Amino acid sequence: MVMVGTDRAEVERALVSGELSCPSCQGVLAPWGHARSRSSRGPDGTIRHRPRRARCGACRGTHVLLAQRWLWRRADAVSVIGAALEAKAAGAGHRSIAAVLDLPATTVRGWLRRFAARAEQVRAHFTRLLLALDPLAGPVIPRASIVADALEAIGRAAAAAVLRLSPTPAWELAGRATGGRLLAPPARDRW
Ligand SMILES: [Zn+2]
Repeated sequence: MVMVGTDRAEVERALVSGELSCPSCQGVLAPWGHARSRSSRGPDGTIRHRPRRARCGACRGTHVLLAQRWLWRRADAVSVIGAALEAKAAGAGHRSIAAVLDLPATTVRGWLRRFAARAEQVRAHFTRLLLALDPLAGPVIPRASIVADALEAIGRAAAAAVLRLSPTPAWELAGRATGGRLLAPPARDRW
């Protein structure tokens, strides 16, 4: 899987122009049909979309191009998931968050648990990213919980990315900077 921007025309142009590289070997990716069509929930309702696929000219591996508004194997937009995580850091419980977002409580509980299990890894990853983007950045001040610390690090890194790179919504940056695997099972890989 390769995370790409949300502008489909721009992604297509970059793909056809050979500007996208293989995550396995850095070879050049070329168009290779589409992945299966899927339904995902954005902030404004369900969206049906069909991600592009690409094939590496060097290792022949195929990869799905996932727009950065989505996460790997999650049906909801990263902005929706991020809103739930922010509510949790502010003290809300999973049932009330689910009610506000009009989602099943089990879905929200799953996000919160997974994020909590990775929160220290998230905090460390985005603190490193913050310092890479802004070597003069001040320290990330510890908050009330490790989840709040992780969100603080994401927010700081996202703000630095806006200044240094381009205006990108914070949660899309969070998804993209973790290869879409912000809520993937804890793994030995460090993104
Ligand atoms: Zn490759």
